[in-house]
Amino acid sequence: MENQLEPSNPKGDKSSQTKKIKESIKSLEKELNEIQESCQHTEYKVANCPKENSGFSLKRVCKVCEKEIGYPSQDEIDSWASL
Ligand SMILES: [Zn+2]
Repeated sequence: MENQLEPSNPKGDKSSQTKKIKESIKSLEKELNEIQESCQHTEYKVANCPKENSGFSLKRVCKVCEKEIGYPSQDEIDSWASL
């Protein structure tokens, strides 16, 4: 029976690496959430945000925390389009 680690994988197994990365993402997302929760969203920009099923859509995005805070008005869409 052969039961050896791949020689091209000297730094340990990928699954523990994956776990670590996922934990980091989780804690970073939590941190981001806290920032977005405490943000007043006083300034926003109109940005094209990717959507899961239908390409892109314009959203109001906070300049500070980058949270999507709603949809732009028609005027804002027009001036975004004319940039
Ligand atoms: Zn904000």
